[in-house]
Amino acid sequence: MPPEALTDTTRFQVYTERQFDRIEALRHLPEEQRFAMRVVANVLPFRVNQYVIDELIDWERVPEDPVFQLTFPQPGMLHEADFNRMAGALRRGAERAEIKAIAREIQAGLNPHPAGQQQMNVPQLNGEPLPGVQHKYRETVLFFPSQGQVCHSYCTFCFRWAQFVGDKALRFAANEASNLHRYLAQHTAISDLLVTGGDPMVMKTDHLKAYLEPLLRPELEHVQTVRIGTKSLTFWPQRFVTDSDADELLRLLEKLVAGGKHVALMAHFNHWREMATPIAREAMRRIRATGAQIRTQAPLLRHINDDPEVWARLWRTQVHLGLIPYYMFVERDTGARQYFEVPLVRAWEIYREAMQQVSGLGRTARGPSMSAGPGKVEIQGVTEIQGEKVFVLRFIQGRNPDWVQQPFFARYDPGATWLDQLEPAFGAERFFFEDEYRAMQQQRVKVRRIA
Ligand SMILES: *Cc1c(COP(=O)(O)O)cnc(C)c1O
Repeated sequence: MPPEALTDTTRFQVYTERQFDRIEALRHLPEEQRFAMRVVANVLPFRVNQYVIDELIDWERVPEDPVFQLTFPQPGMLHEADFNRMAGALRRGAERAEIKAIAREIQAGLNPHPAGQQQMNVPQLNGEPLPGVQHKYRETVLFFPSQGQVCHSYCTFCFRWAQFVGDKALRFAANEASNLHRYLAQHTAISDLLVTGGDPMVMKTDHLKAYLEPLLRPELEHVQTVRIGTKSLTFWPQRFVTDSDADELLRLLEKLVAGGKHVALMAHFNHWREMATPIAREAMRRIRATGAQIRTQAPLLRHINDDPEVWARLWRTQVHLGLIPYYMFVERDTGARQYFEVPLVRAWEIYREAMQQVSGLGRTARGPSMSAGPGKVEIQGVTEIQGEKVFVLRFIQGRNPDWVQQPFFARYDPGATWLDQLEPAFGAERFFFEDEYRAMQQQRVKVRRIA
């Protein structure tokens, strides 16, 4: 099929909070609803493109439509007092500077940097901090290329939202490929490089090449896996089909695969609807034809996918298309979390009910998993042990590798939505890892542990 036949939305057209009034589809909504969306968009990042508007949102079902909830700001995303404060400022026509100042104050109250990412994960190269790189788990390094610190659209629940609200000091962007490669060469325990953002797939192929091709050098042979975190298969599948450097991108993936790397696109899909368009299907087909894998991950979110039927269909569709389900995440403790959060017990029930409906190949997704300060903690279930109702938990990943796969127990709490709300079961004072984690926080130990 020639690319033109797939869709005519090949030209990337994007809208931010400033172009709100130019979005045709919103004109049919009541004025009050549009105003409420603008209030929220002045605090949390907003960016959406025409493909999402035309092909992924069912406007007959707005506001309940999952992709509308995924991309367009909703009044409940701010606390009432914050909402009213920003609404008041906009209504009285406050100056831009005042609006920005109010936005900063509200943002600061939304835990912009969960899990100690800024303090604890930045590694050092020859004694100097290495910006744009995070090294939390021994074998995997995260890299935030500076040109990839934006997305084709923004997710309303994004846990990296603070990177997008305009404060440069908040970004983890790296300017230099060579520092990354030097760091990787010095640490032979690193088997995985995870390129993330923003969305690295907003970058031109030339830029991606500068970061990725050098991984084929002999001194980086230990970096066996190259993962690229992306939501482009949802927000801009044209990246792999009709963009002017789409073919060159596919050649780059092919070259990495031919050079012996395991290349995995870590694709973010919250709802099966995101995978339904012909161009998304064509993008997946083309990526898989390069020998790269597509693994999938997503958080569980109220208003978008808090339903076992949605997850079962999501995983079934993925397996059908040759994709590999990888993680179900718990929505992080940041940003609009109070709008999206689901109690841990409900998250586990949804996971379980969805798992029961898919074949073994769909059961490769681990979760529900909390990416917390000490590591990735999975809720394995709820049970009763000697008369006490408990959560059974385990580390999927740990700041100390020794924590991984040790079961531990927390007192059952039907309302808890995050690890820091849980108490150890059986009268214990602390969880087994807590003293060590606290010591790490105090020393800001990171480099030595993972070196
Ligand atoms: C999830 C995550 C990784 C990757 O962990 P895997 O278990 O290898 O998937 C790496 N770094 C950070 C900070 C993460 O949150």
